[in-house]
Amino acid sequence: MWLIGLCRGAGAARPEPDNAIDQEALMARKITDACINCGACEPECPNEAISAGDEYYVIAAEKCDECEGKDEPACVAVCPVADEAIVKA
Ligand code: SF4
Ligand code: SF4
Repeated sequence: MWLIGLCRGAGAARPEPDNAIDQEALMARKITDACINCGACEPECPNEAISAGDEYYVIAAEKCDECEGKDEPACVAVCPVADEAIVKA
């Protein structure tokens, strides 16, 4: 029985996650290795967040706001493989 109480105590002492950082990370898209390097997304981004990377295109997370206010992110709208290549960061 005393073990249960000990576990509860340890859980309560665990520090809270940094929610500010978690929320910031959620407000961005990222491109995966499913990208076929077609380049269609780069000129469509209103924030100039997309550029050609070493192996495939990349999104600068600090510039991406997921096209806030639009029905669909501009990069997702033009990407031929968006379901796998452009995901939430
Ligand atoms: S979601 Fe919008 S802002 Fe973010 S990279 Fe795609 S086009 Fe740019
Ligand atoms: S539109 Fe899609 S496949 Fe084309 S470069 Fe952008 S992420 Fe890659």
